[in-house]
Amino acid sequence: MLRRTLALAALLTLPTACARTLTQSPAARTARHLDAVRRSPPEAMAFLRAMPKGGDLHNHLAGAVYAEHFVQWGVEDGMCLRHDAAAIVEPPCDTARGDVPLADALRTDPTRARALIDAWSMRNFDASRSSGHDHFFATFDGFDARASRYGDMLAEVVSRLARQHTYYVEVMQSLGTAAAMRTGHDAGWTPDLAEMERRLPPERFADVVRAARQRLDDEEARVRTLLRCGQADEDPGCRVTVRHLVTMYRTVAPEELFAHTVAAVEVARADPRVVGINLVAPEDDPVSLRDYRLHMRIVDRLTAHGTRVNVSLHAGELTPSLVPPEDAGFHIREAVTVAGARRIGHGTDMAFEDDASDTLARMAREGIAVEHCLTSADVILGVRGLDHPFALYRSAGVPQVLCTDDEGVSRTDLSREFHRALTTWNLSWRDLKGLARNALTYSFLAGASLWGAPACAADVPGSAHPSPACAALLAASDRAREQWRLESDLARFEAQW
Ligand SMILES: [Zn+2]
Repeated sequence: MLRRTLALAALLTLPTACARTLTQSPAARTARHLDAVRRSPPEAMAFLRAMPKGGDLHNHLAGAVYAEHFVQWGVEDGMCLRHDAAAIVEPPCDTARGDVPLADALRTDPTRARALIDAWSMRNFDASRSSGHDHFFATFDGFDARASRYGDMLAEVVSRLARQHTYYVEVMQSLGTAAAMRTGHDAGWTPDLAEMERRLPPERFADVVRAARQRLDDEEARVRTLLRCGQADEDPGCRVTVRHLVTMYRTVAPEELFAHTVAAVEVARADPRVVGINLVAPEDDPVSLRDYRLHMRIVDRLTAHGTRVNVSLHAGELTPSLVPPEDAGFHIREAVTVAGARRIGHGTDMAFEDDASDTLARMAREGIAVEHCLTSADVILGVRGLDHPFALYRSAGVPQVLCTDDEGVSRTDLSREFHRALTTWNLSWRDLKGLARNALTYSFLAGASLWGAPACAADVPGSAHPSPACAALLAASDRAREQWRLESDLARFEAQW
């Protein structure tokens, strides 16, 4: 009793602010800490790196790799530096043309590696020499990793994410399905989409589907080897749950895009690791612009308006000066209303869309999320700071997530995307936590959401011992299981301040 009285006396003599801190909830203490560090970029960055951020829903595998690793793999694989020094190509090196082994080129000129890294990323980008948009997309011409390196690329993504205390990613890659375009080319085009379906039935793509699934098996096996998964010293990347979106190129002939989409849908339906599809390549390309409405109809038809497979679409990754204003007026709306997209990638030009308020209201009402890629919008489109429509979506109540897009090319990561959002819109701890939770709520993971589930209504999310009914939900739902893990990580994170 005496000891307790002394302790109470000590507490009563504490300064008021300190006493208040002791009685605050972990969330309030975390918010207080965030407010103390938010104006100090290094302190805020350390906070955000340690924060569990839910997941990355918009991550292109080819753009996620830092160019240093393409250079390293090029040397290890005996690749050649092309005569114009703009690309690495398969051996044997065509010495008559001036190609040389990459290893030799780097040995004789050590500055070469730095030049390649600059050429294959936005590092040291010089805006006086070319546009960010053109340099960004040109980086993809310089390297094309061998199939044997896809697992290395995926290992880099998951390891980097886990080091940022984040354990879910949806990776975009074509998984070799572009091979289907040849079948479409041979079938020829007719604007009658029903006739196109008859010409290109799913059975014709069985080999493409089989090869795509094999490639996923190979990638996963390589990741497990590289990260020593299951061993005592395994890399934390082994704990990351990976799902995939198959991508189709929007810059090709309609019959090729049609066939590619049939194949992508079949892969998604055949393999539970593949949770959706997406269209990629520059949205302002002349073919992308010319065929945009047609592409939306094709996706609508082949996915039954997003009900046969999940659809996320790059839409509105434009500015009204990059393209004629009329082309910036309807892409997001049609991705939602025509194609049945459940998520919009970028949506940067929303303010310039016709009927923007209707589209925003519909996205909010139907829970169609927008994937913000802030660094990407800056380096490709020149849209940065308060010019980015983050606040527009937020005030309309549209669910938002933060993503990296091409973290290797843009020289970013998910923590830095959070930092951009934090500093630009002065976000609260509650906002940041909401963004982390959205990454799982609006993921394409299978299963019911934890939030609002009666089975877990009486449980503390993330607790070590869920009730039997809640445990049954967690066993049955991939989504709820990831959400539970995030809640438990967030509780641990909040407990430290
Ligand atoms: Zn993208």
